[in-house]
Amino acid sequence: MSIAENIKSIQADIAPYRCQLVAVSKTKPKELLMEAYETGIRDFGENKVQEMTDKYEALPKDIRWHMIGHLQRNKVKYIVPFVHLIHAVDSVRLLKEIEKQAAKVDRKVNCLLQMHIAEEESKFGLSEEELMDILHGDMLAGAQHVNIIGLMGMATFTENDQQVRREFKSLKKIFDKVKSDTSLPSHVKMEELSMGMSGDYQLALEEGSTMLRVGTTIFGKRNYK
Ligand SMILES: *Cc1c(COP(=O)(O)O)cnc(C)c1O
Repeated sequence: MSIAENIKSIQADIAPYRCQLVAVSKTKPKELLMEAYETGIRDFGENKVQEMTDKYEALPKDIRWHMIGHLQRNKVKYIVPFVHLIHAVDSVRLLKEIEKQAAKVDRKVNCLLQMHIAEEESKFGLSEEELMDILHGDMLAGAQHVNIIGLMGMATFTENDQQVRREFKSLKKIFDKVKSDTSLPSHVKMEELSMGMSGDYQLALEEGSTMLRVGTTIFGKRNYK
């Protein structure tokens, strides 16, 4: 199937839901991104700063760039001038650096906080307690150049649908809890729940995702050299 056909089929699955498709184009050449662009896709996800910056410079300026990967603090400055949404913020130190760099270019940068929901060992993602500490912390209270607009999470890589569903449910529950918390600063708003990838996006849709990050199902397998 072509990229256009793949996108069409995913969009048909999404249609009943209020959900946005982010085309994860990491490792893929610009020509393939343009194929997706021609079908109307404007949201692209990348996980490497250098690669995203190169593609941003070469491709149409109405593309919305999503940084979906783990972001190192010393690289924040390269993407802050143009990034649309940073999905994987998982520490106050990173948030502080985004605030600092965004202030320099006088932008407000939208961020999601990444939660650790998988059973798998992973270095990345916050516990619920860590999330609450950030949300109610002094750093965020004083921030003027970051907006927290939701949460992001990755389920365990498993064939076990029940487990994946359980993990998505747990993330949605935290999302709803934060959403109803009226004591949070005005630049914290739970609007986006970024969950669901090629292997589990149907479950993510059913469990309340507002943003799917889909790569392989659109562009085919990645070839890491
Ligand atoms: C690569 C990646 C995706 C897309 O994965 P696919 O299985 O190819 O759809 C989604 N989210 C993150 C954080 C990724 O790194």
